[in-house]
Amino acid sequence: MNNNQLQDQEISEPKRTFVHRLADAVLGKNRQQRLRITRSLIAAMVFFICVGVIFYLSAIGQIIPQQGAILSACILVSCGGFYIALRSGFNLRFAEPSLTLPQTLAALTWICGAYAIGNIAHGGTLMLFALVLVFAIFTMSIRSSIISASYGVIAMAMTMIYKVITEPTVYPLQVELAYFVFVATIMPTIALLSMQITRMRDRMKAQTKALEAALIHIEKLAAHDELTGLINRRYMMKVLDDHASRQKRKAIGFSIAMLDLDHFKNINDTWGHAVGDDVLHGFADAATNTLRECDVLSRWGGEEFLLLMPETNNGNPSTGLERLRTVLANLMLSPNAPDLRVTFSVGLTSYRVGEPISDTIHRADKSLYEAKAGGRNRTVVG
Ligand code: GH3
Ligand code: MG
Ligand code: MG
Repeated sequence: MNNNQLQDQEISEPKRTFVHRLADAVLGKNRQQRLRITRSLIAAMVFFICVGVIFYLSAIGQIIPQQGAILSACILVSCGGFYIALRSGFNLRFAEPSLTLPQTLAALTWICGAYAIGNIAHGGTLMLFALVLVFAIFTMSIRSSIISASYGVIAMAMTMIYKVITEPTVYPLQVELAYFVFVATIMPTIALLSMQITRMRDRMKAQTKALEAALIHIEKLAAHDELTGLINRRYMMKVLDDHASRQKRKAIGFSIAMLDLDHFKNINDTWGHAVGDDVLHGFADAATNTLRECDVLSRWGGEEFLLLMPETNNGNPSTGLERLRTVLANLMLSPNAPDLRVTFSVGLTSYRVGEPISDTIHRADKSLYEAKAGGRNRTVVG
């Protein structure tokens, strides 16, 4: 790291951590909860501005100050209440933990209040009415959208009727009717859009799930050999590399064995390719069942198998292989060739800490060659 970078880090690091700590304190650490709280705080910001407007209208004598103060108090208490409910995790007890529906209903109620005390400025509050539903559009269920839109229309209709009766000069029936048509049109329209978005969201969720499942399937296919079900050479290479790099930290030791079926070509030639396939499959099954749980067997190619035997420091790595020889001597591998028995040769070696894994494989290969040359059906340690 050069000097400039060091200076940058020293200057920016305390700032960064302070902002992070502040965000953690206000929003918490859970990603989903942070999203819910952030959304609620954005809505609260709009309300804080509304409280400012209420004070302004009170100051210029457009609304009655006591009414303005009561409504402002209601708004602030409800914003605070929702923040505490979300930040404390109380919201997690509910089926809809975002608390979108209660927050929406509360917001619609306060806007009806603003409409009622707004005097000649009351028409402006209708914009906020629509804004509340827009906020909820991304999180609300279809049911909640319908409830919110219906509640909004009914609550506003009742507010309008009350004001037309009590203050017909500031809330004349003809104008209120026009406003009501706005509300009655806009609210269901937004609810409809909200439903479409909900459906789209559900479809996307289902698609993501299907893609995740497909990815798991593809990863499995990419890592496994179809005939034997063992992991394939490519994946085995990754397993070996991981093992080798772990050895650098703690030397537990591991061995690898290159296994090759003896005279396999003869089996194909004598019994046919299908029997050859049965033998490969049967051999893989027998080896998996006979070797230790922690041993990793892969199909290296054709009739060659590479076996990884972890933690072989305190034991003889060829014990499992000899057990497998005994099992195979009595095992029928194909119903189409009941008397057929198969033997295998092995090149066995231990990993030497620090060497490239290709060196270990090469040693195992050389030992296998010697096992073949020495008469097959044997293990040579290299
Ligand atoms: P050795 O004892 O020296 O190993 O002789 P071998 O006959 O086993 O060795 P060789 O390499 O000459 O032959 C391997 C044969 O394995 C040749 C190839 O056709 C066959 N083989 C490779 N993959 C498959 C497979 O998936 N299914 C079948 N049935 N045969 C396969
Ligand atoms: Mg062979
Ligand atoms: Mg071979």
